[in-house]
Amino acid sequence: MSRLIRAVIDIQALRHNLNVIRARAGRAKVIAVVKANAYGHGLVGAALSLRGADAYAVARLEEGLALRAAGLSKRIVLLEGVFTAAQLEDAADERLDLVVHDACQIELLERAGNADRFALWLKLDTGMHRLGFAPREFAAALARIRALSPAPRELRLMTHLACANERNERITGEQLLRFRDATRGLDYETSIANSAGVFGNFAPGCQWVRPGLALYGASPFEDVSAAQLGLKPVMTLTSSVIAVRRVPRGECVGYGSDWTAARDSQVAIVAAGYGDGVHRSLGAGSPVLVNGQRAALAGRISMDMLAVDVTGFTAVQVGSPAVLWGEGLPVEEVARRAGTIAYELLCSVSQRVPLEPR
Ligand SMILES: *Cc1c(COP(=O)(O)O)cnc(C)c1O
Repeated sequence: MSRLIRAVIDIQALRHNLNVIRARAGRAKVIAVVKANAYGHGLVGAALSLRGADAYAVARLEEGLALRAAGLSKRIVLLEGVFTAAQLEDAADERLDLVVHDACQIELLERAGNADRFALWLKLDTGMHRLGFAPREFAAALARIRALSPAPRELRLMTHLACANERNERITGEQLLRFRDATRGLDYETSIANSAGVFGNFAPGCQWVRPGLALYGASPFEDVSAAQLGLKPVMTLTSSVIAVRRVPRGECVGYGSDWTAARDSQVAIVAAGYGDGVHRSLGAGSPVLVNGQRAALAGRISMDMLAVDVTGFTAVQVGSPAVLWGEGLPVEEVARRAGTIAYELLCSVSQRVPLEPR
């Protein structure tokens, strides 16, 4: 019996994508975003493969500590910063850069009196209204940071774009304008662009970019494929056929007997289900590659299995490979079928699925 479900991680593709981003980002330094287990690709493995990046970014303290514990010594930015004095100490001990987006975080720094142990990224909210200081609060926040004694070791400014992936040039343009207004005359390095910012039509002209999704070989845009951007898929979620059934015309397949064979059919059962992170919202007709050929899902996805209509396919047998997404089947396409985005599919590959570097 051949291997069941696993996520094959193409290290060369990861490095290739980093190079494509670098070429695109000009002289900007690249912060490789590896939050959420490197978008499902394995935090430490991905970070090690991305040693060519200038820095890493994660969302939470624990992710930063895990990278340090694995021996990574590069700059690590905590995108949500820290929220308690104990976390602040851990961040200092492990030399983690902090994003400062809320007054309570400035207060922590004031109380601790050790800002010289930190490189800080002060975040301006230019319109996403998630994290950051509003433009009218920004000058005061900056003044408090500058008044810290001892002074922070380094200080940079950043913001985050809400609509770069949707090519909403009006909103993105407005955000860039607000950033420029608030930071005019200030002599700090800046960071704005996520993946969509790197590949979009805007050139924010910052010293640092923060790509995530593009590193993993998916396109942030609806209307441009990853291949068109020169990116290669990194994760291929692959499993095997564990049974091949003949289903007579008029018989049904799966829970709820949702799918009815319109003809005498051949159905392959694949060892992959929502327990592995294959979204149950993928309906009948969604693509699966069986033996490298596109086939269509038949019926509802179960926890550990799904059924694929392989009528007329030759040579499908127990052990035949079945690809859920990745090489030959872009995760973006599968995500659209599931009514979601590539980010969510990649992140939701579950713990029981082994990651296999290739
Ligand atoms: C997740 C994140 C990124 C990376 O975004 P992608 O769209 O995956 O490139 C960049 N910056 C911040 C603040 C983020 O939270």
